[in-house]
Amino acid sequence: MPVSKAPYKRKYEHTHARGSETVIECSFCGRRLPRYKAFVITKGFSINDPTLKKQIDPRYVHTFQRKYYVCPSCARFRGIAQPGKSVRKKHLER
Ligand SMILES: [Zn+2]
Repeated sequence: MPVSKAPYKRKYEHTHARGSETVIECSFCGRRLPRYKAFVITKGFSINDPTLKKQIDPRYVHTFQRKYYVCPSCARFRGIAQPGKSVRKKHLER
């Protein structure tokens, strides 16, 4: 299981000008979707030992991390995103 923080906050914004969105694949179901719709989670090793942290080059540590893109339905299913909150809030404001 990827390390994730729920509730997950994200900006719902477009990555490019209209018509040229970056399309990515969901890491779980392989569905293709525009990048701005996807949730990004970083999975990787975390070193807690301070002496070990000093010994290892931070640039090298960075290579341990991997980015995963998750489509909204997988994010909802896996508890990465909490559904409906922003929608409900918008509805109340109007
Ligand atoms: Zn998915």
